[in-house]
Amino acid sequence: MEINRRAFLTASALAAAAGATKGAFGATGTPPARRHRVAACPPRSSEYEARRPGPPRVMVIGAHPDDADIICGATTVRLVERGFKVKFVSVTDGSMGHHILSPAEIAKVRRAETEEAARRFGLDGYDIYGYPDCGLYPSDDVRRLVARKIREYEPDFIFTHRTNDYHADHRATGQAVMDAGYLLGVPHWCEEAKPMRLRPVVLYMCDLFTYPRELKPDVMFDVDAYMDRWCDGLDAQVSQFYDWLPWDKGTTGEVKALGDRSDIEKRNAYLRKYWAFRKVADAERFADAWRERYPGRRVPKYMETYEISEYGRAPTQEDLDLLLG
Ligand SMILES: [Zn+2]
Repeated sequence: MEINRRAFLTASALAAAAGATKGAFGATGTPPARRHRVAACPPRSSEYEARRPGPPRVMVIGAHPDDADIICGATTVRLVERGFKVKFVSVTDGSMGHHILSPAEIAKVRRAETEEAARRFGLDGYDIYGYPDCGLYPSDDVRRLVARKIREYEPDFIFTHRTNDYHADHRATGQAVMDAGYLLGVPHWCEEAKPMRLRPVVLYMCDLFTYPRELKPDVMFDVDAYMDRWCDGLDAQVSQFYDWLPWDKGTTGEVKALGDRSDIEKRNAYLRKYWAFRKVADAERFADAWRERYPGRRVPKYMETYEISEYGRAPTQEDLDLLLG
């Protein structure tokens, strides 16, 4: 079905006006007073209508072939259900992600697993750029490739890592996206792809790091209803969630107890136990922010949270309404 931003916004406004009990603004039907932080770049709302036609697009740019899945998977299910096109990216090849298979072997396995993950999440593609895992730098080469891919896909929104994160590849990925942010619209830079007149809104994916400061909850999603499908998406990456990561964490015994994983409830409980901690932590640490933003609305058990980057386009209220639904 062909959808566009205007249709989204109109439907959302109509639902609110009708006092819909399950509309975009919850039980009251009244838009809450949102307090989104204003980013440094001025908004370009006059160009809003000049965007390319078609459904809104999101590009989730992670360092490894499971970062987008783990961190943004439930948001993705929610957006895809609403008609968004979502593309996942892994800047590296994930070739360090195993304790037995060789780097070349595991890179191949992971590529195949991301194809299955793409099918389960309903993605518009899962791209692997192929830089060496655990060796990524925000070089000019990486910046240009990331920028070219962004220009070609023309996303409305980008989700990526913050630069204070435990893994050097995550930091390098976030840095490359930030470095590309302004340059996306500079015509003489990276001339192999058409410059963007309307740059995307960039949002940082959730992490739990506190130095030099923790993530700000500018955009919060209640993802309780999407957790089973999120688990199903993670389940596609067998080498990671049932092999390498349990070995790394010392939980292989629990994986053995799952057997052939045909008990979906048990499988999902396992995946939630080890991989939903960030979503549970967000629901707890941002509960007050949620109540303030959405008075009277139940605080979710699982939350996926994002901070608006000052290096992307400053989102208009229309952008935020579009994203939040
Ligand atoms: Zn990673």
